[in-house]
Amino acid sequence: MARATAAAQKKKKASKKRAAPKKGAAQKKPGLRKLKRVKKPALAAKPAKGIPDPKPTPRPTPDMSGRSLLPLNILLIGPPGAGKGTQAEKISSTFNIPHLSTGNLFRAAIKAGTELGKKVEPLLAAGKLVPDDVTIPIVDERLSQPDATQGVLFDGYPRTIPQAEALERTFERLGRKLNRVVLIEVPDSAIVARMSGRRSCPKDGSVYHVVANPPREPGKCDKCGTDLVTRPDDQPETVQGRLNTYTAQTAPLIAYYEPKGLLARVDGVRTPDQVFESIHSGLRR
Ligand code: AMP
Repeated sequence: MARATAAAQKKKKASKKRAAPKKGAAQKKPGLRKLKRVKKPALAAKPAKGIPDPKPTPRPTPDMSGRSLLPLNILLIGPPGAGKGTQAEKISSTFNIPHLSTGNLFRAAIKAGTELGKKVEPLLAAGKLVPDDVTIPIVDERLSQPDATQGVLFDGYPRTIPQAEALERTFERLGRKLNRVVLIEVPDSAIVARMSGRRSCPKDGSVYHVVANPPREPGKCDKCGTDLVTRPDDQPETVQGRLNTYTAQTAPLIAYYEPKGLLARVDGVRTPDQVFESIHSGLRR
C-alpha cells in the first residue's frame, strides 16, 4: 500500500515537472522562434567593389495626405459652377494648405460692411470682375501671412492675364514657384443647371449642391449649422453674365499656362469624389 502511494506521488511530481515551463521561457511566443530562423535575404550581402549597392533606395510611400509634395502652390481655374469651391476644400484639407478664395474674401468684406465690401458689392451682384488694382494687393497681403508659407491653394485667382502676371512677379519676389494649374472643365450647358442647385454658407463660405453635394441636414451647413443660402451671384440671371465674363477674361489663362507645362485638365462632369481623385493624381505627376 505504502509502495503504491509512493509510486503515485512520484508520478504526480513528474507530470508537474513536465507542465511547468523552464525559467525564462514563460514569455516566449510560439511564432517568435520560427521568425528567428528566417535567412537573411541575398540583397543584404555586401556588394563587390565597383558594383553599386543593390539595396533598393527607399521611395516615399504613396501618401494620400500628399505632405511630401509641400510646399505646394496650386491654382484652381474653371467656369463659375465648375465645382472649384468644393474641390478647393478637399485639396486644402488633404494637403493642409490654406484655401485662398478671392470670392470668399470679397463676400466677407461685404458682410462686414467694410470700404472694400461697399466698393465690390455691386460688381459681385452683377457678375462683373473686381478691378485688378483692387484684387492684386489683397492677394499679395494674404500670401505674406505665415500660414501661407507651406503653400496655398488659389480658388478664383488669377482671373485675368494681368493678375496671372502679377502673381508670377509676387512669387518671384518671395522665391516661390507655382507647381500646378488645375483646370476643371464643365460645358456651359451643365453650368446653369448646376448653379440653380448651389447653396452656400453665409458664415464660413462652404459650398453645397442640393443634388451633387448635399449637406447632411437639408439647408444647414455641415460645419457650423448656419442656414444655407443661394448667393446673389448664383441667381440664374447673373449666371449667364458670369459665364460671358469667364470666356472673355479668364479662359485666356488656359493658353497662358499650358505652354508653361503647368496645366492639368480635369473633367468636372463627375461626382466630387471622382473629380478629386483626378486632381489628386494630377498633382502627384
Ligand atoms: P467666386 O466665388 O470665385 O465665383 O467669385 C465671386 C465674384 O467675386 C466674381 O464673380 C467676381 O465678381 C469676384 N471675384 C472673385 N475673384 C476675383 C478675381 N480674381 N478678380 C476679380 N474679381 C473676382
